Amino acid sequence: MNAATATVASNTDYLLAVEDLTVSFDGFKAVDGLSFYVDENEIRVIIGPNGAGKTTVLDLICGRTKATQGSIKFKGAELTQMREHQIVHAGVGRKFQTPSIYEDLTVFENLEICFPRGRTVFGSLAFKRDGEVVSRVEEIAETIFLSNQLHERAAFLSHGQKQWLEIGMLLIQNPELLMLDEPVAGMSVSERKKTAELLHRIIQDRSVLVIEHDMKFVEDIAHKVTVLHQGRILSEGSMDKVQADPKVIEVYLGH
Ligand code: ADP
Ligand code: MG
Repeated sequence: MNAATATVASNTDYLLAVEDLTVSFDGFKAVDGLSFYVDENEIRVIIGPNGAGKTTVLDLICGRTKATQGSIKFKGAELTQMREHQIVHAGVGRKFQTPSIYEDLTVFENLEICFPRGRTVFGSLAFKRDGEVVSRVEEIAETIFLSNQLHERAAFLSHGQKQWLEIGMLLIQNPELLMLDEPVAGMSVSERKKTAELLHRIIQDRSVLVIEHDMKFVEDIAHKVTVLHQGRILSEGSMDKVQADPKVIEVYLGH
């Protein structure tokens, strides 16, 4: 095997391979030569001080922001060349900080409208509530702890339950990479524990990339932690390793 094929092989071993990723906003590099790799079935957590570039990394992966330089390979496909909807279609789901559920619809209906449906030859959406949809909605509702709230309007859910519903709305599309920006912000201690349990359940079929500040939660979920600072990696590895890293203590954990 020559050097070129060896490089390609190592890139495609990862579900997600980010290499030399850079974005410049009017000359300011919010993300600066960033490289990291996420395995299949991995929960990766990105931590770091405010303004480190964490949310921008997710914006770049989901195609909301265009990279100035570098590569993002997902299952070998180059995401930097794709539009947002193509990236969703390729299997990348992303949850934003504020939930975007439909308050007037029930939990069931919120999940149902996110169920991926093929288009007919006439281009219209086939929209019947068939058995497959119902059983998939029920399965997701159980995963997100909302089986008993299926027919309640989303407006009546607690803040934590709304966050879970939005995760469910992504899960029903079966993404192979799920990205969550501060999913437990505003949650109670018991909701945080259940969210950790939820993430461990869903990675049988996928990987999860999470931005989070709550270090107890990070400890509960992370297989590996990437610490960002000024758009670059300050430290990376197990939770124990990064927590003991003097550079991380100085710029982040010590505050
Ligand atoms: P974090 O999520 O780690 O708190 P962000 O990724 O939101 O950080 O932001 C990183 C830096 O990039 C900040 O200084 C922010 O002001 C800047 N930034 C983010 N998005 C834009 C944008 N669209 N235009 C200009 N500056 C931006
Ligand atoms: Mg952010």
